[in-house]
Amino acid sequence: MKTLYRARRVYTLSHPQTGDWLLVDERHVERVGVGESPAADRLVELPGTVILPGFIDTHVHLTGTGLSRLGIPIERARSAEELLGLVAEELTHDPAKVLAHGFDESHWERPELPSGPDLDDLGDVPIILVRADGHLSLANAPALKESGAIELEGVERDEVGRPTGVVRREANERVQRWFHEALTDHEIRELQLQAAALAASRGVTCVHEMAIPAWRGRRDVEVLMEHRAQLPVDVVPYVADKDIPYVMDLGLETIGGDLSLDGSIGARTAALSEPYRDDRGRGALYEREDGLAEFFHNAHLAGFQVAVHAIGDAAIEQAVGAWERVYRALDSRGRRHFRARRHRIEHFELCTADQVERAAALGLAISIQPAFDAAWGHPGALYDRRLGSERAAAMNPFGALLARGLLLGAGSDSPITELDPMEGLWALETHHDPSQRMNREEAVRLFTAGSAALAHLEDKKGRLRPGMQADFAAYDADPVSADDPRGIRPVLTVSRGREVFAT
Ligand SMILES: [Zn+2]
Repeated sequence: MKTLYRARRVYTLSHPQTGDWLLVDERHVERVGVGESPAADRLVELPGTVILPGFIDTHVHLTGTGLSRLGIPIERARSAEELLGLVAEELTHDPAKVLAHGFDESHWERPELPSGPDLDDLGDVPIILVRADGHLSLANAPALKESGAIELEGVERDEVGRPTGVVRREANERVQRWFHEALTDHEIRELQLQAAALAASRGVTCVHEMAIPAWRGRRDVEVLMEHRAQLPVDVVPYVADKDIPYVMDLGLETIGGDLSLDGSIGARTAALSEPYRDDRGRGALYEREDGLAEFFHNAHLAGFQVAVHAIGDAAIEQAVGAWERVYRALDSRGRRHFRARRHRIEHFELCTADQVERAAALGLAISIQPAFDAAWGHPGALYDRRLGSERAAAMNPFGALLARGLLLGAGSDSPITELDPMEGLWALETHHDPSQRMNREEAVRLFTAGSAALAHLEDKKGRLRPGMQADFAAYDADPVSADDPRGIRPVLTVSRGREVFAT
Protein backbone atom coordinates (compact mmCIF):
# COMPACT_ATOMS: atom_id res chain seq x y z
CA MET A 1 0.00 0.00 0.00
CA LYS A 2 1.69 3.18 -1.22
CA THR A 3 0.52 6.67 -0.46
CA LEU A 4 1.65 9.74 -2.35
CA TYR A 5 1.60 13.07 -0.56
CA ARG A 6 1.76 16.09 -2.85
CA ALA A 7 2.66 19.45 -1.34
CA ARG A 8 4.14 22.81 -2.33
CA ARG A 9 7.46 21.78 -0.85
CA VAL A 10 8.92 18.87 1.09
CA TYR A 11 11.94 19.63 3.23
CA THR A 12 13.95 16.46 3.65
CA LEU A 13 16.88 17.78 5.76
CA SER A 14 18.79 15.34 3.56
CA HIS A 15 19.67 15.10 -0.14
CA PRO A 16 18.05 16.32 -2.27
CA GLN A 17 17.06 19.03 0.17
CA THR A 18 13.57 19.59 -1.16
CA GLY A 19 10.95 18.01 -3.32
CA ASP A 20 7.27 18.48 -4.02
CA TRP A 21 6.02 14.97 -3.38
CA LEU A 22 6.67 12.25 -0.85
CA LEU A 23 5.95 8.60 -1.52
CA VAL A 24 5.25 6.47 1.56
CA ASP A 25 5.22 2.69 1.54
CA GLU A 26 3.28 1.61 4.62
CA ARG A 27 5.42 2.86 7.49
CA HIS A 28 8.44 4.11 5.56
CA VAL A 29 9.52 6.81 3.17
CA GLU A 30 10.10 5.35 -0.25
CA ARG A 31 11.13 8.46 -2.14
CA VAL A 32 10.97 12.24 -2.28
CA GLY A 33 10.97 13.88 -5.66
CA VAL A 34 10.08 16.81 -7.89
CA GLY A 35 7.69 17.04 -10.79
CA GLU A 36 6.01 14.01 -12.26
CA SER A 37 5.02 11.77 -9.40
CA PRO A 38 5.06 7.97 -9.34
CA ALA A 39 2.00 5.75 -9.21
CA ALA A 40 0.51 5.09 -5.78
CA ASP A 41 -2.48 3.32 -4.30
CA ARG A 42 -3.64 6.48 -2.64
CA LEU A 43 -3.07 10.16 -3.35
CA VAL A 44 -3.20 12.86 -0.67
CA GLU A 45 -3.24 16.34 -2.16
CA LEU A 46 -1.96 18.99 0.24
CA PRO A 47 -1.93 22.02 -2.04
CA GLY A 48 0.07 24.99 -0.81
CA THR A 49 1.51 23.18 2.20
CA VAL A 50 5.07 22.44 3.21
CA ILE A 51 6.09 19.13 4.71
CA LEU A 52 8.78 18.83 7.36
CA PRO A 53 10.18 15.79 9.15
CA GLY A 54 8.33 15.21 12.41
CA PHE A 55 9.74 17.10 15.37
CA ILE A 56 11.21 15.05 18.20
CA ASP A 57 10.95 16.31 21.75
CA THR A 58 13.74 14.86 23.90
CA HIS A 59 12.26 15.58 27.32
CA VAL A 60 8.56 15.13 28.01
CA HIS A 61 6.52 14.02 31.01
CA LEU A 62 3.42 12.59 29.35
CA THR A 63 1.20 12.06 32.39
CA GLY A 64 2.14 15.44 33.79
CA THR A 65 1.37 17.03 30.44
CA GLY A 66 -2.04 15.38 30.33
CA LEU A 67 -2.80 16.45 33.89
CA SER A 68 -1.76 20.02 33.40
CA ARG A 69 -4.07 20.31 30.35
CA LEU A 70 -7.02 19.13 32.42
CA GLY A 71 -6.24 20.80 35.71
CA ILE A 72 -6.58 24.33 37.04
CA PRO A 73 -4.66 26.75 34.77
CA ILE A 74 -2.54 28.10 37.63
CA GLU A 75 0.17 29.13 35.17
CA ARG A 76 -2.09 32.11 34.46
CA ALA A 77 -1.91 33.42 38.04
CA ARG A 78 -0.02 36.69 38.32
CA SER A 79 -0.10 36.97 42.11
CA ALA A 80 -0.54 34.88 45.25
CA GLU A 81 -4.14 36.16 45.46
CA GLU A 82 -4.92 35.07 41.91
CA LEU A 83 -3.39 31.66 42.58
CA LEU A 84 -5.56 31.18 45.68
CA GLY A 85 -8.58 32.48 43.77
CA LEU A 86 -8.15 29.88 41.01
CA VAL A 87 -7.93 27.10 43.60
CA ALA A 88 -10.96 28.43 45.51
CA GLU A 89 -12.93 28.41 42.26
CA GLU A 90 -11.96 24.79 41.63
CA LEU A 91 -13.02 23.84 45.16
CA THR A 92 -16.58 24.98 44.40
CA HIS A 93 -16.78 21.83 42.23
CA ASP A 94 -16.14 19.64 45.32
CA PRO A 95 -13.05 17.70 44.22
CA ALA A 96 -11.79 15.04 46.64
CA LYS A 97 -8.29 16.49 46.26
CA VAL A 98 -6.50 18.96 44.06
CA LEU A 99 -3.21 18.82 42.21
CA ALA A 100 -2.38 21.62 39.81
CA HIS A 101 0.83 22.41 38.03
CA GLY A 102 2.52 25.45 36.61
CA PHE A 103 2.49 28.52 38.86
CA ASP A 104 5.60 30.64 38.37
CA GLU A 105 6.02 33.41 40.91
CA SER A 106 9.04 34.73 39.01
CA HIS A 107 6.51 36.34 36.64
CA TRP A 108 4.56 37.97 39.48
CA GLU A 109 4.99 41.59 40.43
CA ARG A 110 5.43 40.55 44.06
CA PRO A 111 6.99 37.08 44.02
CA GLU A 112 5.89 36.11 47.57
CA LEU A 113 4.16 32.74 47.75
CA PRO A 114 0.93 32.28 49.69
CA SER A 115 1.50 31.20 53.29
CA GLY A 116 0.63 27.89 54.95
CA PRO A 117 -2.39 29.46 56.73
CA ASP A 118 -3.55 30.99 53.39
CA LEU A 119 -3.58 27.50 51.90
CA ASP A 120 -5.25 25.95 54.94
CA ASP A 121 -7.99 28.61 54.83
CA LEU A 122 -9.08 27.33 51.44
CA GLY A 123 -10.65 24.21 52.97
CA ASP A 124 -10.09 20.71 54.27
CA VAL A 125 -9.41 19.11 50.91
CA PRO A 126 -5.77 18.14 50.24
CA ILE A 127 -4.29 20.74 47.89
CA ILE A 128 -0.99 20.43 46.02
CA LEU A 129 0.20 23.23 43.76
CA VAL A 130 3.33 22.34 41.83
CA ARG A 131 5.69 25.10 40.75
CA ALA A 132 6.36 25.40 37.00
CA ASP A 133 9.68 23.53 37.25
CA GLY A 134 8.23 20.69 39.39
CA HIS A 135 10.94 20.95 42.05
CA LEU A 136 8.86 22.83 44.61
CA SER A 137 5.23 22.52 45.61
CA LEU A 138 2.78 24.24 47.91
CA ALA A 139 0.86 21.77 50.03
CA ASN A 140 -1.79 22.48 52.64
CA ALA A 141 -1.95 20.70 55.99
CA PRO A 142 -4.31 17.90 54.84
CA ALA A 143 -2.05 17.14 51.84
CA LEU A 144 1.05 17.06 54.04
CA LYS A 145 -0.63 14.80 56.54
CA GLU A 146 -2.44 12.37 54.27
CA SER A 147 0.56 11.90 51.98
CA GLY A 148 2.95 11.38 54.90
CA ALA A 149 5.19 14.16 53.55
CA ILE A 150 4.98 15.96 56.89
CA GLU A 151 7.53 13.47 58.25
CA LEU A 152 10.04 14.00 55.46
CA GLU A 153 12.98 16.16 54.61
CA GLY A 154 12.11 19.25 52.59
CA VAL A 155 9.10 20.57 54.55
CA GLU A 156 9.87 24.26 55.05
CA ARG A 157 8.93 25.60 58.48
CA ASP A 158 8.59 29.07 59.99
CA GLU A 159 10.36 30.25 63.14
CA VAL A 160 7.83 28.53 65.42
CA GLY A 161 8.06 25.28 63.48
CA ARG A 162 4.82 25.46 61.52
CA PRO A 163 4.94 24.30 57.88
CA THR A 164 4.94 27.29 55.51
CA GLY A 165 3.27 25.19 52.82
CA VAL A 166 6.47 25.03 50.76
CA VAL A 167 7.87 21.55 50.14
CA ARG A 168 11.02 20.59 48.29
CA ARG A 169 13.12 17.45 47.88
CA GLU A 170 11.69 14.28 49.41
CA ALA A 171 8.54 15.92 50.72
CA ASN A 172 7.82 17.36 47.26
CA GLU A 173 8.34 13.96 45.68
CA ARG A 174 6.04 12.36 48.19
CA VAL A 175 3.09 14.75 47.84
CA GLN A 176 3.17 14.40 44.06
CA ARG A 177 3.62 10.64 44.16
CA TRP A 178 0.79 10.30 46.67
CA PHE A 179 -1.55 12.04 44.25
CA HIS A 180 -0.38 10.03 41.23
CA GLU A 181 -0.56 6.69 42.99
CA ALA A 182 -4.28 7.18 43.51
CA LEU A 183 -4.91 7.48 39.76
CA THR A 184 -6.41 4.40 38.13
CA ASP A 185 -4.66 2.67 35.23
CA HIS A 186 -7.42 3.95 33.00
CA GLU A 187 -6.86 7.54 34.12
CA ILE A 188 -3.11 7.23 33.56
CA ARG A 189 -3.67 5.82 30.07
CA GLU A 190 -6.06 8.63 29.22
CA LEU A 191 -3.66 11.32 30.45
CA GLN A 192 -0.79 9.82 28.46
CA LEU A 193 -3.01 9.54 25.39
CA GLN A 194 -4.09 13.19 25.71
CA ALA A 195 -0.47 14.26 25.88
CA ALA A 196 0.54 12.13 22.89
CA ALA A 197 -2.39 13.53 20.90
CA LEU A 198 -1.28 17.04 21.85
CA ALA A 199 2.21 16.21 20.55
CA ALA A 200 0.76 15.03 17.22
CA SER A 201 -1.27 18.24 16.92
CA ARG A 202 1.97 20.21 17.24
CA GLY A 203 3.87 18.33 14.53
CA VAL A 204 5.77 16.19 17.03
CA THR A 205 5.97 12.54 15.99
CA CYS A 206 8.27 11.20 18.71
CA VAL A 207 8.84 12.07 22.35
CA HIS A 208 11.43 10.90 24.84
CA GLU A 209 9.34 10.19 27.92
CA MET A 210 11.06 11.03 31.20
CA ALA A 211 9.33 8.77 33.70
CA ILE A 212 10.07 9.57 37.34
CA PRO A 213 8.91 6.78 39.65
CA ALA A 214 9.83 8.87 42.72
CA TRP A 215 7.26 11.48 41.63
CA ARG A 216 4.64 9.38 39.88
CA GLY A 217 5.19 5.79 41.04
CA ARG A 218 6.41 2.88 38.94
CA ARG A 219 2.92 2.09 37.70
CA ASP A 220 3.04 5.26 35.62
CA VAL A 221 5.75 3.83 33.34
CA GLU A 222 4.38 0.30 33.52
CA VAL A 223 1.04 1.51 32.16
CA LEU A 224 2.89 3.43 29.45
CA MET A 225 4.85 0.34 28.39
CA GLU A 226 1.60 -1.59 27.97
CA HIS A 227 -0.07 0.85 25.59
CA ARG A 228 2.71 2.89 24.03
CA ALA A 229 2.48 1.02 20.72
CA GLN A 230 -1.10 2.27 20.37
CA LEU A 231 -0.25 5.91 21.06
CA PRO A 232 -0.39 8.34 18.13
CA VAL A 233 3.32 9.22 18.39
CA ASP A 234 6.41 7.16 19.09
CA VAL A 235 7.56 7.16 22.69
CA VAL A 236 11.12 6.43 23.79
CA PRO A 237 10.94 5.88 27.56
CA TYR A 238 13.71 6.79 29.99
CA VAL A 239 13.04 5.74 33.59
CA ALA A 240 14.59 7.61 36.51
CA ASP A 241 15.14 4.45 38.51
CA LYS A 242 18.52 3.08 39.57
CA ASP A 243 17.22 -0.47 39.86
CA ILE A 244 18.95 -1.91 36.78
CA PRO A 245 17.20 -5.33 36.77
CA TYR A 246 13.82 -3.58 37.07
CA VAL A 247 14.47 -1.33 34.07
CA MET A 248 15.88 -4.28 32.13
CA ASP A 249 12.69 -6.22 32.81
CA LEU A 250 10.74 -3.37 31.27
CA GLY A 251 12.62 -4.20 28.08
CA LEU A 252 14.41 -0.87 27.85
CA GLU A 253 17.93 -0.03 26.68
CA THR A 254 17.82 3.37 28.33
CA ILE A 255 17.91 4.24 32.01
CA GLY A 256 17.89 7.33 34.17
CA GLY A 257 16.52 10.16 32.10
CA ASP A 258 15.33 12.77 34.55
CA LEU A 259 17.14 11.08 37.42
CA SER A 260 17.80 14.16 39.50
CA LEU A 261 21.34 14.98 40.55
CA ASP A 262 19.94 18.33 41.69
CA GLY A 263 16.77 20.42 41.46
CA SER A 264 16.06 23.68 39.67
CA ILE A 265 17.24 27.28 39.77
CA GLY A 266 13.67 28.49 40.38
CA ALA A 267 13.25 26.36 43.52
CA ARG A 268 16.87 27.20 44.54
CA THR A 269 17.57 23.47 44.63
CA ALA A 270 19.97 23.39 41.68
CA ALA A 271 23.41 22.51 43.12
CA LEU A 272 25.83 25.42 42.75
CA SER A 273 29.53 25.79 43.42
CA GLU A 274 28.87 29.33 44.72
CA PRO A 275 25.80 30.46 46.71
CA TYR A 276 22.66 31.85 45.14
CA ARG A 277 22.65 35.59 44.87
CA ASP A 278 19.25 35.94 46.55
CA ASP A 279 19.74 33.26 49.19
CA ARG A 280 22.59 31.91 51.28
CA GLY A 281 22.20 28.32 50.09
CA ARG A 282 23.90 26.52 47.24
CA GLY A 283 21.23 23.90 46.65
CA ALA A 284 22.27 20.32 47.23
CA LEU A 285 23.45 17.24 45.41
CA TYR A 286 20.88 14.45 45.62
CA GLU A 287 23.29 11.60 44.90
CA ARG A 288 26.49 10.58 46.64
CA GLU A 289 29.50 10.60 44.37
CA ASP A 290 30.52 6.96 44.88
CA GLY A 291 26.97 5.73 44.52
CA LEU A 292 26.53 7.64 41.28
CA ALA A 293 29.80 6.38 39.78
CA GLU A 294 28.83 2.84 40.71
CA PHE A 295 25.39 3.23 39.11
CA PHE A 296 26.96 4.69 35.94
CA HIS A 297 29.49 1.88 35.82
CA ASN A 298 26.95 -0.90 36.27
CA ALA A 299 24.41 0.63 33.90
CA HIS A 300 27.08 1.19 31.25
CA LEU A 301 28.32 -2.40 31.54
CA ALA A 302 24.73 -3.64 31.33
CA GLY A 303 24.49 -1.97 27.93
CA PHE A 304 22.25 0.94 28.87
CA GLN A 305 22.35 4.45 27.54
CA VAL A 306 22.22 6.47 30.75
CA ALA A 307 20.78 9.95 31.20
CA VAL A 308 20.68 12.20 34.27
CA HIS A 309 19.24 15.59 35.18
CA ALA A 310 21.88 18.18 36.08
CA ILE A 311 21.25 21.94 36.07
CA GLY A 312 23.67 23.61 38.51
CA ASP A 313 27.44 23.65 37.90
CA ALA A 314 28.04 21.42 40.96
CA ALA A 315 25.60 18.80 39.67
CA ILE A 316 27.11 18.96 36.18
CA GLU A 317 30.53 18.55 37.79
CA GLN A 318 29.30 15.48 39.62
CA ALA A 319 27.89 13.92 36.45
CA VAL A 320 30.95 14.63 34.31
CA GLY A 321 33.33 13.59 37.12
CA ALA A 322 31.51 10.30 37.70
CA TRP A 323 31.58 9.51 33.97
CA GLU A 324 35.30 10.27 33.89
CA ARG A 325 35.87 7.70 36.61
CA VAL A 326 34.02 5.07 34.60
CA TYR A 327 35.81 6.08 31.39
CA ARG A 328 39.31 5.99 32.86
CA ALA A 329 38.84 2.38 33.94
CA LEU A 330 38.19 1.30 30.32
CA ASP A 331 40.73 0.21 27.70
CA SER A 332 40.87 2.01 24.37
CA ARG A 333 38.30 -0.25 22.74
CA GLY A 334 36.04 0.13 25.74
CA ARG A 335 36.44 3.89 25.50
CA ARG A 336 35.35 3.89 21.86
CA HIS A 337 32.24 1.95 22.79
CA PHE A 338 31.67 4.32 25.67
CA ARG A 339 31.70 7.38 23.43
CA ALA A 340 29.40 5.69 20.95
CA ARG A 341 26.85 5.05 23.71
CA ARG A 342 26.04 8.79 23.92
CA HIS A 343 25.24 8.90 27.61
CA ARG A 344 23.09 11.95 28.16
CA ILE A 345 22.91 14.91 30.46
CA GLU A 346 19.54 16.62 30.60
CA HIS A 347 19.41 20.42 30.92
CA PHE A 348 23.17 21.10 31.48
CA GLU A 349 22.23 24.73 32.04
CA LEU A 350 24.89 26.28 34.26
CA CYS A 351 27.87 24.54 32.64
CA THR A 352 31.42 25.88 32.70
CA ALA A 353 33.71 25.98 29.67
CA ASP A 354 35.85 23.29 31.28
CA GLN A 355 32.84 21.01 31.80
CA VAL A 356 31.84 21.49 28.17
CA GLU A 357 35.29 20.34 27.01
CA ARG A 358 35.27 17.32 29.30
CA ALA A 359 31.74 16.32 28.32
CA ALA A 360 32.77 16.55 24.65
CA ALA A 361 35.80 14.33 25.27
CA LEU A 362 33.49 11.70 26.80
CA GLY A 363 31.13 11.79 23.84
CA LEU A 364 28.26 12.83 26.09
CA ALA A 365 25.05 14.03 24.47
CA ILE A 366 23.11 16.98 25.80
CA SER A 367 19.34 17.34 25.92
CA ILE A 368 18.69 21.09 25.99
CA GLN A 369 15.46 22.97 26.74
CA PRO A 370 15.61 26.16 24.68
CA ALA A 371 12.31 27.46 26.07
CA PHE A 372 13.87 27.62 29.55
CA ASP A 373 16.13 30.35 28.25
CA ALA A 374 13.17 32.21 26.75
CA ALA A 375 11.21 31.93 30.02
CA TRP A 376 13.93 32.57 32.57
CA GLY A 377 17.27 33.31 30.90
CA HIS A 378 16.98 36.88 29.70
CA PRO A 379 18.41 39.89 31.54
CA GLY A 380 16.30 40.75 34.59
CA ALA A 381 14.48 37.40 34.53
CA LEU A 382 14.61 34.57 37.06
CA TYR A 383 18.13 33.25 36.43
CA ASP A 384 19.52 36.75 36.62
CA ARG A 385 17.81 37.35 39.96
CA ARG A 386 18.80 33.99 41.44
CA LEU A 387 22.40 33.93 40.21
CA GLY A 388 23.44 37.46 39.29
CA SER A 389 24.03 38.65 35.76
CA GLU A 390 27.49 37.16 35.27
CA ARG A 391 26.54 33.56 35.94
CA ALA A 392 23.12 33.93 34.29
CA ALA A 393 24.65 35.36 31.12
CA ALA A 394 26.87 32.30 30.67
CA MET A 395 24.02 29.79 30.98
CA ASN A 396 22.74 27.53 28.23
CA PRO A 397 25.59 28.22 25.75
CA PHE A 398 23.91 26.26 22.94
CA GLY A 399 26.14 27.55 20.15
CA ALA A 400 29.29 26.72 22.11
CA LEU A 401 28.04 23.21 22.88
CA LEU A 402 27.55 22.54 19.17
CA ALA A 403 30.86 24.15 18.28
CA ARG A 404 32.69 21.87 20.74
CA GLY A 405 31.23 18.86 18.98
CA LEU A 406 28.67 17.80 21.57
CA LEU A 407 25.66 15.99 20.21
CA LEU A 408 22.58 18.07 20.98
CA GLY A 409 18.87 17.40 20.91
CA ALA A 410 16.10 19.62 22.15
CA GLY A 411 13.01 19.26 24.23
CA SER A 412 10.34 21.16 26.10
CA ASP A 413 10.29 19.36 29.45
CA SER A 414 6.51 19.57 29.01
CA PRO A 415 4.52 20.44 31.10
CA ILE A 416 7.28 22.76 32.34
CA THR A 417 7.16 24.59 29.03
CA GLU A 418 4.63 24.04 26.24
CA LEU A 419 4.96 20.87 24.20
CA ASP A 420 5.47 23.02 21.12
CA PRO A 421 8.61 22.94 18.98
CA MET A 422 7.73 26.32 17.44
CA GLU A 423 8.36 27.90 20.83
CA GLY A 424 11.67 26.04 20.97
CA LEU A 425 12.73 27.22 17.52
CA TRP A 426 11.97 30.79 18.47
CA ALA A 427 13.87 30.47 21.75
CA LEU A 428 16.94 29.19 19.88
CA GLU A 429 16.85 32.18 17.54
CA THR A 430 16.27 34.73 20.27
CA HIS A 431 18.69 33.33 22.88
CA HIS A 432 19.60 35.89 25.53
CA ASP A 433 23.20 35.82 24.25
CA PRO A 434 23.27 36.74 20.55
CA SER A 435 26.52 34.79 20.09
CA GLN A 436 24.71 31.56 21.09
CA ARG A 437 21.77 31.88 18.69
CA MET A 438 20.94 29.50 15.89
CA ASN A 439 19.30 30.26 12.60
CA ARG A 440 15.99 28.66 11.70
CA GLU A 441 17.45 25.82 9.73
CA GLU A 442 19.94 24.91 12.46
CA ALA A 443 17.12 25.08 14.99
CA VAL A 444 14.89 22.79 12.90
CA ARG A 445 17.75 20.30 12.50
CA LEU A 446 18.29 20.30 16.23
CA PHE A 447 14.63 19.46 16.94
CA THR A 448 14.58 16.68 14.32
CA ALA A 449 17.84 15.00 13.36
CA GLY A 450 19.61 16.12 16.54
CA SER A 451 16.88 14.86 18.81
CA ALA A 452 16.71 11.58 16.85
CA ALA A 453 20.42 10.98 17.41
CA LEU A 454 20.01 11.50 21.14
CA ALA A 455 18.01 8.25 21.19
CA HIS A 456 20.22 6.50 18.59
CA LEU A 457 17.42 6.83 16.04
CA GLU A 458 19.22 8.89 13.40
CA ASP A 459 18.89 6.08 10.85
CA LYS A 460 15.15 5.90 11.38
CA LYS A 461 13.94 9.40 12.20
CA GLY A 462 14.66 13.09 11.79
CA ARG A 463 15.06 13.21 7.99
CA LEU A 464 12.92 12.24 5.05
CA ARG A 465 14.97 9.94 2.89
CA PRO A 466 14.35 6.46 1.50
CA GLY A 467 13.99 3.85 4.22
CA MET A 468 13.40 6.27 7.07
CA GLN A 469 10.21 6.04 9.08
CA ALA A 470 7.36 8.06 7.59
CA ASP A 471 7.25 10.71 10.33
CA PHE A 472 6.27 14.15 9.09
CA ALA A 473 3.80 16.99 9.28
CA ALA A 474 2.33 19.33 6.68
CA TYR A 475 1.80 23.03 7.35
CA ASP A 476 -0.08 25.81 5.58
CA ALA A 477 2.51 28.36 6.71
CA ASP A 478 6.18 27.46 6.20
CA PRO A 479 7.91 27.01 9.59
CA VAL A 480 11.30 27.32 7.88
CA SER A 481 10.73 30.68 6.20
CA ALA A 482 8.09 32.35 8.43
CA ASP A 483 9.42 35.43 10.24
CA ASP A 484 8.08 34.17 13.55
CA PRO A 485 7.13 30.48 13.64
CA ARG A 486 5.22 30.68 16.91
CA GLY A 487 1.64 29.56 16.58
CA ILE A 488 2.19 27.67 13.32
CA ARG A 489 0.32 24.38 13.53
CA PRO A 490 0.22 21.43 11.17
CA VAL A 491 -2.81 20.53 9.08
CA LEU A 492 -1.72 16.89 8.97
CA THR A 493 0.68 14.83 11.07
CA VAL A 494 1.88 11.38 10.05
CA SER A 495 3.73 9.10 12.46
CA ARG A 496 5.18 5.86 11.07
CA GLY A 497 2.86 6.16 8.13
CA ARG A 498 -0.28 6.61 10.25
CA GLU A 499 -2.22 9.84 9.87
CA VAL A 500 -2.46 10.71 13.56
CA PHE A 501 -3.66 14.28 13.38
CA ALA A 502 -5.59 16.24 10.77
CA THR A 503 -7.53 19.48 10.82
ZN1 LIG B 1 14.80 17.42 34.57
